[in-house]
Amino acid sequence: MSLDQFVAELSLLRQENPREPDAPPEDSSNAVKIMTVHSAKGLEFPVVFVAAIHKGVDTSVPVVAFSRHRGLGARWRNPASGEDKDDLFQHALRQEWKRREEEESSRLLYVAMTRAEYHLVLSFSATGRKPANWDKLVVERLALDLSAPRLQVADYRAPDGQPWKARVHIAQPAPELLTRPRTPQEEAPLLQVSLPAVEDQHDSNATVTALSLFASCPRKYYLSHYLGFPGRTRKPGEAALASAEPAGLSAAEFGTQVHALLAGSPVPEPTPDALRLAQVFRQSTLARRAARATRVAREFDFLLAIEDLVIRGQVDLWFEEGGELLVVDYKTDEVTAAEAHHRSRDYAVQLRLYALAVERVAGRAPDRAWLHFLRPNTLVEVDLTPTLIESPEQTVRDFQQAQSKLDFPLSEGDHCKRCPFYRDLCPASQSHLRP
Ligand code: SF4
Repeated sequence: MSLDQFVAELSLLRQENPREPDAPPEDSSNAVKIMTVHSAKGLEFPVVFVAAIHKGVDTSVPVVAFSRHRGLGARWRNPASGEDKDDLFQHALRQEWKRREEEESSRLLYVAMTRAEYHLVLSFSATGRKPANWDKLVVERLALDLSAPRLQVADYRAPDGQPWKARVHIAQPAPELLTRPRTPQEEAPLLQVSLPAVEDQHDSNATVTALSLFASCPRKYYLSHYLGFPGRTRKPGEAALASAEPAGLSAAEFGTQVHALLAGSPVPEPTPDALRLAQVFRQSTLARRAARATRVAREFDFLLAIEDLVIRGQVDLWFEEGGELLVVDYKTDEVTAAEAHHRSRDYAVQLRLYALAVERVAGRAPDRAWLHFLRPNTLVEVDLTPTLIESPEQTVRDFQQAQSKLDFPLSEGDHCKRCPFYRDLCPASQSHLRP
């Protein structure tokens, strides 16, 4: 039974005096017993009624099911349409389950019928339906003709040759259903309650990139990550929307190439530009310090929990040298040295999250964090001092609240010029842009 039925059952039990005299032992009363087939196993009775055998047994598969052969399967609900659909495992499980339950069901009917010592009554209804469950088995084996009402005694022969008789009673119309008078308590008017407000619904995990994007503009995060819009493609002559895309590579592919080169991973056919940018970092002071480091990690993958959000990310480089713990992130953005300082604000949250992750693994907070913009070869230090407004914890809280309320405000500013949603899906106005 469901939980609410179980609670109701318990309260009923409490109301009835549970200390009433013990029930007489089994078989001591000359009374009708109503029991399930399972609980009747091993017992025998002079007369047995197996009623409503057209109901069969429940062969439905639970919403989440498991089998040794098929694994774990689930039935999923599309929240938009409300439709349910099995995944591949659940589909396979359903077939296996059905076959097994059908076999079990036949065994159960056998158990039910063989509880009778002298007299067995099977009843079923065929009104408006074809026999399909246990009734189908009985109709076929006894070759019953259900077309006309009658009462007859039919002769049969058991497999061992013994004759036996069955009284077949086909009634039409179906008997009226007995109705139970309702108690005044059951007739109490139904209470209509309003639907509970759905709140506090937010992702349980996010990437550093998504959080960083959210921090720079919640609406941009909503349009790109949350709804998955690709954004408008750049027209010739427009301000650059993203990093340059050399040699037919997307900005992301180009960035991956440079990062892989700097991590020492094999890169098939790197572009000359990627090789050049990797060389820019190798010749930097930070690279020389990393070479002398007592502890160093490149492309460091991490999982970090803040509040109840699990954050995934990858730190390009962190190392400990000369008593200092440093975090470094390489950027391949198409910016000038002057723009790099401006752009670094967009990456502040990202670097603070990296610092938190490194702190948990290194056992102490990093002393400094650097962004290395490789194209202009410009180093920008990011202040790791926590502030109330820009702390990672506050960003996570804002992120979860925005998802719960589906409220993603605009963050209008000069960065809108690089945004693929500017003057497209986003209603940001031009008044916020510097001339
Ligand atoms: S145009 Fe500006 S305000 Fe609009 S989504 Fe892009 S960055 Fe945000």
